[in-house]
Amino acid sequence: MYRAYKFRLYPNNEQRVLIHKTFGYYRFIYNYFLDKCKTNGYMKAYDMCISLKGLYYEFPFLKEVDSCSLRCAIFNLEDSYKRFFSKKTRYPKFKNKYTKQSYRTNCIRSTYKGRTYSNIVLDLVNNTIKLPKLGLVKIRGYRNLEIINGNIINATVERDTTNKYYVSVVIEKKEFVTQKVTPKNIVGIDLGVKDLVVTSDDEKFNNPKELAKREKRLKRLQRKLSRQERNSNNYFKTKEKIARLHSKIKNSRKHNMINVVNKIIKEHDIIVSEKLNVRGMSQNHKLAKNILDASFNRICELLKWKCHQFGKYYYQVDTYFPSSKMCARCGAKTEKTKDLSVRRWTCEKCGYENNRDLTASINIMFEGLRLHYES
Ligand SMILES: [Zn+2]
Repeated sequence: MYRAYKFRLYPNNEQRVLIHKTFGYYRFIYNYFLDKCKTNGYMKAYDMCISLKGLYYEFPFLKEVDSCSLRCAIFNLEDSYKRFFSKKTRYPKFKNKYTKQSYRTNCIRSTYKGRTYSNIVLDLVNNTIKLPKLGLVKIRGYRNLEIINGNIINATVERDTTNKYYVSVVIEKKEFVTQKVTPKNIVGIDLGVKDLVVTSDDEKFNNPKELAKREKRLKRLQRKLSRQERNSNNYFKTKEKIARLHSKIKNSRKHNMINVVNKIIKEHDIIVSEKLNVRGMSQNHKLAKNILDASFNRICELLKWKCHQFGKYYYQVDTYFPSSKMCARCGAKTEKTKDLSVRRWTCEKCGYENNRDLTASINIMFEGLRLHYES
């Protein structure tokens, strides 16, 4: 089992120069061999690696950067071709320097006199990572972890559009089976547009308030950008502001999601949610943005993974389960809720006052209970 850990990276000036060089040479090698494949036909990665050796004589500057990363560029190209051959993607494209920059490098270990040496070393006590050619670089992230067990497989260094550097470290972990808990309680959760999460305990979780403010600001900036003269100085300034705001919005949404999921998992043993067909739902234009933004799928993924980690149970009810069409008390169905603006409705059969989201989460909970006994 592989797990990726992403850290913010703080290179010094010298390291930053070298990182940029590596981005450039990584791209150079990728494009060089893509061009070769385009003109002379596809080559295997093994053959590319052999001809890479020759390139060191032709382009001696390649020696300045981590040689492992250049080989990774070749394997990266091979992956692009493999995906193309299996009809998953289009034909590989040349990389350019205007999008997100990154390079990957593999971890190499060797043993000498009983001690193991590695070209990538993660030190969470001193908050550093040793990377080939760069040496020790400062990192931040995972404050509560002191050590990550498992072997490092590779590391990817990247720079995003807001000039921040990150390193993702992939670590091979031994899969250990967590003892399943004896469930004492159950919760159904309804993922919504109005409230992010409504639980069957009638608890509501929402995105932080400042998120809406930031989104408003983003819209304003985007309008401003559309009025500005393309490629003027001010145009780029606004563009940079937009990129920074985007990443802030993305991060605060992510953090909030993790907090919500952690709280739900801490308090419950069986967790049930809907299987949402985001693609199907986004055909409805009014909902599209909100739904995709709330990234329901990612919440579900996170719930699934965390439940697995803590030995708890997670169920997803079917997409076609009529969670919002049934009365929470008697189960009688209604057509009233087809109109999404209907927040409350009275059951025609038993007279119960249903609250749209709460009712849905209660129905989801009962369906989950049925699934739990079935399995
Ligand atoms: Zn009823």
